Amino acid sequence: MRKRIVAGNWKMNNDLAETEVLLQELKKQVIPEKVSVLVAPSFTNLQHAFESLRDHPIAVAAQTMHQSDHGAFTGEVSAAMLKSVGVKTVILGHSERRAYFDEDNALLAEKVTTALRHEMTVIFCIGETLQERKQGHHVEVVTAQLEEGLFHISENHWQHIVLAYEPVWAIGTGETASPEQAQEMHKEIRNIVASSYSESIADKVSILYGGSVKPENAKEIFGQPDVDGGLIGGASLNARSFMEIVSAFL
Ligand code: PEP
Repeated sequence: MRKRIVAGNWKMNNDLAETEVLLQELKKQVIPEKVSVLVAPSFTNLQHAFESLRDHPIAVAAQTMHQSDHGAFTGEVSAAMLKSVGVKTVILGHSERRAYFDEDNALLAEKVTTALRHEMTVIFCIGETLQERKQGHHVEVVTAQLEEGLFHISENHWQHIVLAYEPVWAIGTGETASPEQAQEMHKEIRNIVASSYSESIADKVSILYGGSVKPENAKEIFGQPDVDGGLIGGASLNARSFMEIVSAFL
């Protein structure tokens, strides 16, 4: 059985006090044993979140990191810095990083290599824009994102990889892929992994869906055979909505 994962990407929201309020609310909730739950606060709140969640099953992830170990990269944060405050998981390739910070597949390949060298788990995001989908290029785009950004890794690194399929047209727009569209792409992604690596690796990797997941649609999306959880943006900023999504697996 593949790992079921729900991760909340808080993006550039919540200062320290707001982070603490949300963490306290989350800590009151019962986390189902069969679901791994993560939250990704901003850099400034990672250490606080890690400490606050020390004896709690919710884990803390970072939203990005730099590909170098150290150096003159003003404003950036390295894998070692993340690990030094307890963070062992990093989201890489989020569409907002790709679109607003020019993170292309080649750069992401470097970040993946660095994260794995530091024994971090990577939630690797892929997904097509609306235009690419309308032109019927979605499979091609996602294949290139995987091949150029991720498929340089060795077979034994796959145990540290989680994939997140996030159609850009569904992120923060209120527009969700239908459960059938999500299943179709997740199956396709699994096939792409199988043909470049093996059926066994493809079968084991968790593939999360992201894009306007809410308590109202989570059950149907998570009910698809190749959907192993979700990467949640907006709805993860509210403890009750987030936990309803987490509980959609029950
Ligand atoms: C995301 O940012 O990864 C995301 C899926 O956002 P939202 O749930 O708000 O669409």
